[in-house]
Amino acid sequence: MSQKVTVSVPNIGEATDVEVIEVLVAKGDSVEAEDSLITLESDKASMEIPAPEAGVVGDVFVKVGDKVSEGTAILSLDVQTTSGTTEKVPEETSAPTSPPVSSATSSTHGDDDNVPNERVEVLVIGGGPGGYTAAFRAADLGKDVVLVERYDQLGGVCLNVGCIPSKALLHVAHTIEEAAELADSGVAFNTPEIDLDKLRQHKEKVVGQLTGGLVALAKKRKVRVIQGRATLISAHSVSVEQEDESTVIHFEQAIIAAGSHSTLIPGFPYDDPRLIDSTGALALQDIPKRMLVIGGGIIGLEMANVYSALGTSVTVVELANSLIPGCDPDLVKPLQRRINAQYENIFLQSKVTRIEPEEHGLKVWFEGDKTPEHDTFDRVLLAVGRRPNGLSMGAEVGGVHVNDQGFIPVDRQQRTNVPHIFAVGDIVGQPMLAHKATHEAKVAAEVIAGHKAFFDARVIPSVAYTQPEIAWVGLTETQAKAEGQAYEKASFPWAASGRSLSMGRKEGMTKVLYDPETRVVLGVGIVGSQAGELIAEAALAIEMGADTEDLALTIHPHPTLSETINFSAEVAEGSVTDIYAPKKK
Ligand SMILES: Cc1cc2nc3c(=O)[nH]c(=O)nc-3n(C[C@H](O)[C@H](O)[C@H](O)COP(=O)(O)OP(=O)(O)OC[C@H]3O[C@@H](n4cnc5c(N)ncnc54)[C@H](O)[C@@H]3O)c2cc1C
Repeated sequence: MSQKVTVSVPNIGEATDVEVIEVLVAKGDSVEAEDSLITLESDKASMEIPAPEAGVVGDVFVKVGDKVSEGTAILSLDVQTTSGTTEKVPEETSAPTSPPVSSATSSTHGDDDNVPNERVEVLVIGGGPGGYTAAFRAADLGKDVVLVERYDQLGGVCLNVGCIPSKALLHVAHTIEEAAELADSGVAFNTPEIDLDKLRQHKEKVVGQLTGGLVALAKKRKVRVIQGRATLISAHSVSVEQEDESTVIHFEQAIIAAGSHSTLIPGFPYDDPRLIDSTGALALQDIPKRMLVIGGGIIGLEMANVYSALGTSVTVVELANSLIPGCDPDLVKPLQRRINAQYENIFLQSKVTRIEPEEHGLKVWFEGDKTPEHDTFDRVLLAVGRRPNGLSMGAEVGGVHVNDQGFIPVDRQQRTNVPHIFAVGDIVGQPMLAHKATHEAKVAAEVIAGHKAFFDARVIPSVAYTQPEIAWVGLTETQAKAEGQAYEKASFPWAASGRSLSMGRKEGMTKVLYDPETRVVLGVGIVGSQAGELIAEAALAIEMGADTEDLALTIHPHPTLSETINFSAEVAEGSVTDIYAPKKK
């Protein structure tokens, strides 16, 4: 059963004849209790009038520009009454007093319950690459934006405990390794002295420069950044929990960019500080003598690279039958050959079943053909993947569907099942990469601003910043074989690259996969120095629908590593002269 009630302007203090500057609902809209109905603006402040209870909006009696005072009827509301109850729904009700809110810059306290209360056009949850990009783009497109981040630094995982600190350390690690390798070219350095505090400071300085830059960029754009944990309390509002208070923010549209967290394996002794995740590894507390890395994916191998270069004896254990599962084996091979020689052990198709803290280390039990039954390490790094944070911010209270794994499904415009709530980044699915998050973020912000934007990237490149680097984009051979997709392949060994040899490196390889009929480039894989820089050309080629002839006829500067893309395409075309690879008949 439903009953009609009239919602009128509540006590708004001394103010009379206050202008209606926004009508936020229309006939037929469903509203929750506390959802904003209209916004009023006096010469002192703006204030929103919330719904006194949930219901469906009937006739709206006010329009923008009207002047209203206490008691002016705003709209009629159809409210549900529980059948069988005798509870009387009042004929007419005033909305609870809404707190005056300065329209864009500050929050004030509500009369009812002292909960600070704001309203905003676009609310963004999460200050990582997805969140800050969405917030900045939306602000650039004219939206009033609030960005809520639970930590006191913007930048999310990527800037604080992911992409950037890991690359700052990997740069140092690669320089150490390359300096040592120069001995083969007649220049020998002494064993490096490592000042761990300084190295940590270097990493933190890089992170600080970038996160500080974000604060400045937010200010310039008038994006209000609020520190606190946001939880959806309705489809149009979040509660932001701060240290000793909470704020309610009402929004017209929202973008959820709450990211992901490290996956844990149940039963391990997480209260022991010697068991760390990637964040613990990046904290660089010490240089352990022996470290076990559980997980031979990109993050595990990058961290292994850092610690190995600093002098740690590293063992890697991986459940799958190859490192970097999903990456083509021929791309992984040069990396594996190199680290086989550097690391203490690499155990594939093996797993850790138990970890027990002991005085002198963490005792680890293995299961696998080549593993010992157990061994003891100074540190154990768990790097077995990441899980989305979809279940941790009340999404479902706002009506947003979260799947069993914690991902929030979205359409190609980044819209969730709730049309005014969008989601971007790690929280919407694989691949969990910062450059995917930022592209999705721009789509969401542009759609909110009324643009016809879609996430229609054909490909998303992946990079392992190991030594050598591995990068791939588009179709992989592994995927093509699994899906039965026809392809042809042409590859160029870097042993024939003048630039690679002059850098003292010959283990690299560039391969191009292309359509056998049209010769359109389907995928490119590169292993070797700076593969991550080189792969962008391949991504562009695929986006532009280039074929192998386009790549072969594009003049690349000599001598560069980029030539290897040119040469692999020439192999496909049968025009290569730098190696002997006549065209297949
Ligand atoms: C060690 C490591 C190295 C990596 N290296 C790379 C790399 O080289 N290249 C690459 O592309 N990717 C890399 N990644 C992955 C990359 O960091 C993520 O893909 C990227 O950060 C995802 O961005 P996001 O905005 O979706 O989420 P995040 O960066 O996770 O940001 C989400 C933010 O939301 C905040 N948040 C969560 N819940 C709430 C809430 N309820 N209220 C308020 N705030 C909330 C979090 O505090 C966080 O700041 C790496 C990751 C790790 C761990």
